[in-house]
Amino acid sequence: MLFQSAGVIGAVTAGLSQLGTAEADDSPVCPTDFSEQDEDEDKDEDEDDTVPDLREERFTIQEGTSYATDAFVRESSTDGPTAVVFGGLHGNETAGHRAAARIADWEPVRGTLVVVPEANAVAVERSTRVSPNGDLNRQFPADEEPTTPLARELWEIVEEFDADVVLDLHTSRGIWNSDVGPTGFGQAVFPTEAGRPIADEAIQGMNEFLHSGKPGHYTFTRGNTLTGARPMLIHKVGNDLDRPGFLLEATQHGTDLETRTAWLEELTARILRQTGVEV
Ligand SMILES: [Zn+2]
Repeated sequence: MLFQSAGVIGAVTAGLSQLGTAEADDSPVCPTDFSEQDEDEDKDEDEDDTVPDLREERFTIQEGTSYATDAFVRESSTDGPTAVVFGGLHGNETAGHRAAARIADWEPVRGTLVVVPEANAVAVERSTRVSPNGDLNRQFPADEEPTTPLARELWEIVEEFDADVVLDLHTSRGIWNSDVGPTGFGQAVFPTEAGRPIADEAIQGMNEFLHSGKPGHYTFTRGNTLTGARPMLIHKVGNDLDRPGFLLEATQHGTDLETRTAWLEELTARILRQTGVEV
């Protein structure tokens, strides 16, 4: 299912390169040739029923500061829920922001997808967990304003888009509730109360997808419920909004970057479909 999305992106990329080739073959190109070429391309797209209508938008938060980072919006013409996906709250958890960057390219056929791949751009650039203004995932106290300008703007995205579901993508050195490897939070989905049934369904499907449901080190489990007890983004979703929220953790123990990235993408796709955002 993950690869279905990659296929869409591949098709779009192929289309662009064909356009580029056509223009190059026409050289030297006069402006008239360009406009004719564009009209032909537009006509072809209109006739192609397989391409869903999408509204796309991109905007920058914290503009003019070192924390400036982009948010990507893709809204299907078919009404549905809105999902907000964050990566890079911890800059050294590379698979998290890498997966989010790919998710930002997904084209929902139902609902709206809002993605901030590099929530803490300074930490991502430095490949550090935190930035000079601290640990971003400890700046979302329940029932209070987030404690830094960056955290406030990220929370505003959740509120302004009236997110029906929020996901936050991370990795951890260890595996949650396991004796294997160092202690940690990997291979777990930590949901809000409202997200628990969705997490269970997505985890079950994920484990069947990974290894036919056989138990193993890399089996995913459901972690504790995030209620607002700690000042973390998804805790705040649970407490303030009482909506489905999910902190996703993939383990770094014995895994490569691409595997961790693919796990986070696949889990995200499964959770989104459970909530009615079709990707
Ligand atoms: Zn993290």
